[in-house]
Amino acid sequence: MRERKRIAIIGGGPAALVAADALAPHHEVHVYEQGRSVGRKFLVAGQGGFNLTNSADGPALAAMYSPAGFLNEALGAFGSNAFREWLSELGIETYVGTSGRVFPTKGTKPVEVLNVMRERSLERGVHFHLEHTFVGFDEHTNAIIEHGGARSSLAAHFTIFSLGGASWSVTGSTGTWSGHFAQLGIEVTPFRSSNCGVKIEWPGSFARDHAGKPLKNISVSAGDHSSIGEATITQHGLEGNAIYPVVPALRDAIANGTGALLHLDLKPNNTTDQLLQKIAGKEPKNYAAALNLDRATMALLKAFTTKERFHSPFAFVQDVKGLQLPVTALRPIEEAISTVGGIAPSELAPDFSLKRYASSPLAKWWTGMHQRAVSSCKAAIPWDGTPRMPYLNADRSPAGSFHAIPNSAAFASCFRTFNPARKFAALNATAWLAKDSSVPPSSRSIGWPSRAFSLSPSSWCMPG
Ligand SMILES: Cc1cc2nc3c(=O)[nH]c(=O)nc-3n(C[C@H](O)[C@H](O)[C@H](O)COP(=O)(O)OP(=O)(O)OC[C@H]3O[C@@H](n4cnc5c(N)ncnc54)[C@H](O)[C@@H]3O)c2cc1C
Repeated sequence: MRERKRIAIIGGGPAALVAADALAPHHEVHVYEQGRSVGRKFLVAGQGGFNLTNSADGPALAAMYSPAGFLNEALGAFGSNAFREWLSELGIETYVGTSGRVFPTKGTKPVEVLNVMRERSLERGVHFHLEHTFVGFDEHTNAIIEHGGARSSLAAHFTIFSLGGASWSVTGSTGTWSGHFAQLGIEVTPFRSSNCGVKIEWPGSFARDHAGKPLKNISVSAGDHSSIGEATITQHGLEGNAIYPVVPALRDAIANGTGALLHLDLKPNNTTDQLLQKIAGKEPKNYAAALNLDRATMALLKAFTTKERFHSPFAFVQDVKGLQLPVTALRPIEEAISTVGGIAPSELAPDFSLKRYASSPLAKWWTGMHQRAVSSCKAAIPWDGTPRMPYLNADRSPAGSFHAIPNSAAFASCFRTFNPARKFAALNATAWLAKDSSVPPSSRSIGWPSRAFSLSPSSWCMPG
């Protein structure tokens, strides 16, 4: 029988919960969360449409991530379809929306998905330690945990860091953890907004008249990124599911000073010729009705085109199919749905281990990053022996293998191994695996099992 390992998971978001779910049948799992409840950021996930993954799979899914190729193997082994199957096992059925996004069955709220994951973890014997904060590393690179004003070092066979990104800090995702890794000499990159709104200088009274209104079924592109979906007009610019996928191109353009332009196709299901036919012989004042364009869309067109173009049928249709909006900035990181940053990719070997430290042949960690939170958090699947992930089958792995597709759009921080006696791996800016079978718990260490908290349903709410 395989030896049960003691596994510490630090950070209690959805990445931690799926890792715990996968590990608990085989190991003694402890989750350390700084807040009074777990999954607080996930509970706000409903804002703007609660999707769980994208229907793209295989190479198409991998292509959604950067740097190119980095996650191909991980996503090839566990992609969107596998994730949906896993959700279905948990009783969460999903469907694919017109935008390609995958949603839970209508009416399912984030708290329900979170509850299912939490219940499964509790059933599987996971110990939850709330109000336990990771505050750095000791001289042996054990994680130090602070609780009730006292500090102790963690001694575990494996430690998974699933500390989230750096937005919506009220939910616990502060990103301050990256400083602890920087102190070890690991290169970390600053966190920046990823899935976020964009800033556009609205002319005149446009924002006052139209903020809050949606631009539905539009196609958006910037650089070589494009998407179809909905954007909401805000006081500051635009945001929404059609905007987020193109943010990387805009971020680069802003950083390079090359001019960030958003291209909107307000009628993606019609060709230019079709639109021209619909307005043929009509007065400009009747274009809106002819093309079924609402007031906000017409106001947007008027705001970003000239009178001459508006009165020329061909130029007008050209603008409907390709309206250009200059983007001046991304919205602040605190507002972002997800962030990029964390441990620099240059620190990582192809197997996501830290290049500067020797990796052990005894352990292998696979990490990855998924753009959508929950699917991205289907993490750490060691020793479950399921055929769908053959290379994760324990029977083929000498000492154990881990596959992790964690967290938010902030990939960037996976590593392992500080010294030959210890092996570590990180899942994006988020999760991190450590193996230390050689160091027994010291008198300063938190004992195993240490104080465990069970989660009551009432603890599953957003902080006020
Ligand atoms: C408005 C909004 C809408 C969203 N919509 C969606 C959506 O529709 N679909 C979707 O899939 N995703 C959505 N997301 C993103 C999703 O919430 C995140 O991607 C997801 O929560 C990331 O999971 P995680 O476990 O990696 O990190 P987190 O959820 O950030 O969890 C990290 C945990 O680590 C804890 N922690 C941090 N530092 C420490 C420390 N030093 N010691 C101990 N604990 C620590 C934090 O308290 C936190 O609980 C949305 C996010 C927002 C803000």
